[in-house]
Amino acid sequence: THFGYEQVQEAEKARRVADVFDSVAQRYDLMNDVMSGGLHRLWKAFTIAKSGVREGSRVLDVAGGTGDLSLAFLKRVGKSGQVWLTDINNAMLTRGRDRLCDKGFITPVAQCDAEKLPFPDDYFDCVTVAFGLRNMTHKDSALKEMRRVLRPGGRLLVLEFSQVWKPLAPVYDFYSFNVIPRIGQLLVKDEASYRYLAESIRVHPDQETMKSMMEQAGLERVDYFNLSLGVCALHRGFKF
Ligand code: SAM
Repeated sequence: THFGYEQVQEAEKARRVADVFDSVAQRYDLMNDVMSGGLHRLWKAFTIAKSGVREGSRVLDVAGGTGDLSLAFLKRVGKSGQVWLTDINNAMLTRGRDRLCDKGFITPVAQCDAEKLPFPDDYFDCVTVAFGLRNMTHKDSALKEMRRVLRPGGRLLVLEFSQVWKPLAPVYDFYSFNVIPRIGQLLVKDEASYRYLAESIRVHPDQETMKSMMEQAGLERVDYFNLSLGVCALHRGFKF
């Protein structure tokens, strides 16, 4: 096979993402709390509140990593529901599975790429992806895949960094490019991964672009909520 420039770049991004999450898996939860000052817990709680998930629901957590969302969903769906924790990265997923297990939940886990989900059409009531879409190579195909596995009436929730309120931008940039890599170096001796984090946030689509990407993928009634002045946004879309 012949690989062009674009394929090489894509392969490099995928490799980089794999390296980053192999490297951060062990200290991932601690770093989330430190870097966001605990705010990621509120953003995730808001996501759960908008999920419509209740007893008996079937939920798919894409790029679920160490399982924060899955854990909250498991507490909601009860014995009659289902929560699948999935991620492309084995180190993150193993950590997630162990964590859920320690909390007393045995739940199905699958290592898979969001672009090729091993689930049938029209299966889940709710699909979530938190801080995962940013790392994906083909966001359009991932969004289409996530829509495919939703049942008609089901919803997709995308929680991701977004465009911060303009007046806050200089402070935010300083924090993400200067402070965060240093915290990474200090706490886990890994400056590069946390520099990647800042860069990937910078190039990620803003609120309105993300909304049209979801519409392009066939999701309907798409709306979004800005969280912490646009540091994050939660996008919500339905399949009909
Ligand atoms: N959802 C978790 C959370 O909010 O704490 C973990 C988010 S973590 C920042 C991003 C995750 O996306 C990583 O675990 C990474 O392995 C995963 N990921 C990256 N590319 C992926 C892909 N193409 N398919 C599935 N997961 C992917």
